[in-house]
Amino acid sequence: MSDKFQAVVIGGGPGGYVCAIRLSQLGIKTACIESRGSLGGTCLNIGCIPSKSLLNLSEDFNKVQNLSSKGIEIGEVKLNLSKMMKSKDKAVTILTKGVEFLLKKNKVTYFKGTGSFKSKNEIFIKDEKNKETLIQADKIIIATGSLPISLPSIKFDEKVIISSTGALKLEKVPKKMVIVGGGYIGLEMGSVWSRLGTEVHVVEFLDHITPGMDKEISNEFMKILKKQGINFHMQLKVDGVKKNESGAIVSTTDKNGSKKDFECNVVLISVGRKPNTNGLNLEKIGIKLDEKKRVKTNKSFQTNLNNVYAIGDVIAGPMLAHKAEDEGIAVAENIAGQSGHVNYDTIPGVIYTTPEVASIGKTEEQLKKLNIKYKIGKFSFMANSRAKAIDDAEGFVKILADEKTDKVIGAHIIGPHAGELIAEIGVAMEFGASSEDIARTCHAHPTFSEAVKEAALSVDKRAIHS
Ligand SMILES: Cc1cc2nc3c(=O)[nH]c(=O)nc-3n(C[C@H](O)[C@H](O)[C@H](O)COP(=O)(O)OP(=O)(O)OC[C@H]3O[C@@H](n4cnc5c(N)ncnc54)[C@H](O)[C@@H]3O)c2cc1C
Repeated sequence: MSDKFQAVVIGGGPGGYVCAIRLSQLGIKTACIESRGSLGGTCLNIGCIPSKSLLNLSEDFNKVQNLSSKGIEIGEVKLNLSKMMKSKDKAVTILTKGVEFLLKKNKVTYFKGTGSFKSKNEIFIKDEKNKETLIQADKIIIATGSLPISLPSIKFDEKVIISSTGALKLEKVPKKMVIVGGGYIGLEMGSVWSRLGTEVHVVEFLDHITPGMDKEISNEFMKILKKQGINFHMQLKVDGVKKNESGAIVSTTDKNGSKKDFECNVVLISVGRKPNTNGLNLEKIGIKLDEKKRVKTNKSFQTNLNNVYAIGDVIAGPMLAHKAEDEGIAVAENIAGQSGHVNYDTIPGVIYTTPEVASIGKTEEQLKKLNIKYKIGKFSFMANSRAKAIDDAEGFVKILADEKTDKVIGAHIIGPHAGELIAEIGVAMEFGASSEDIARTCHAHPTFSEAVKEAALSVDKRAIHS
């Protein structure tokens, strides 16, 4: 007899494991299947966590070299890359083991193996040794995440032609790296390697980086990254990548048809990610995909089969860990008969470069397109006393509020701790706050968060410190 569960989650990433824990908390007998051999998905193993670890360590390396100008002399600073990588790997291991502990603590049954549908209520699990186990479930949640995309006929070897996964484990600092794509993953990895000594060249098809971001912030971001030594080559189409003895040649064409080649040691292809439905056998049970091959769901995360749901990177919406987690909680609550829901208007996005970039809600460009009248409040970190005190004053806070009601409808920050500061605006937006609500909230002094308050004051042209 095969084991029977009330719910089975396929995929142990931030969407899947969070969903499994919430299901179990709600009294539902749950199993979670993960093929990677460790829990936490892309995020913990090859995404958010290792990238943030390397961003932090490379920033420390960079900072420490510049301390003498501030009166702190510490002699020669040397890089030990393999030790740095071990420190990153340690963080990953601690966190993935932590998730395993959480599943156990919450009485979720964890299956190590690859899950595929036998029928709409049965899943085959194949483990490392090809041993197959069949389990049954009333409800099944697909949380199988996403995979990096390459360019046509260019294959990742993860040594010379790399995806973000290879960029997180290079064994030596490349002399020259070309990054195809100016999105957040490419720019984070570019920052890491640039700080460690690589000459970084970003080749981008569009005329701006970080597509979808508020244009004013994106322009400022590119200016700052250029000052840090990252080179940008805009409006170039990559025609191909050819490996040679020293690395590779990236050939491109500009909008006028002129050709340009870039020689480098390593090429990072960072042009986006695609939903991962490999091997699930979805065709067999008739689960429908959308035009981008994502699992099609309704507002309750239900697929066209009423006992099968999907969440996270494998469905529509921003490919972000916290979006996947929130969907995991919402679907678990829906399955338990509650009213789970995700507010897609208040999902923050953060880029963990220096300075950080964070945004929530609508951009100016979106508001114009939607014909929504808005007011803008802006405040520069140059006028923020904490930022000045620690000589970290690049960037600004921008708040967008409805012209009539003053309700906050978007916020965009580039500057120190932007990723933390955006949370205050998220709470404000969830409560339908106006810019005046933020402006009248007492903020501690001296903090970076005072820049948020001043930007809110500036919506009605009454900022004090500018
Ligand atoms: C370099 C990088 C940096 C990132 N940084 C950030 C960041 O800072 N913040 C942020 O919010 N997001 C970040 N992301 C995105 C984030 O990692 C994803 O949005 C998030 O992991 C999606 O969660 P998920 O649960 O949907 O899928 P995943 O995390 O991809 O998890 C899916 C899991 O399912 C497993 N699986 C797949 N098929 C099967 C199967 N048939 N059977 C069993 N298991 C299966 C996979 O092995 C995987 O572990 C980053 C991504 C990358 C690549």
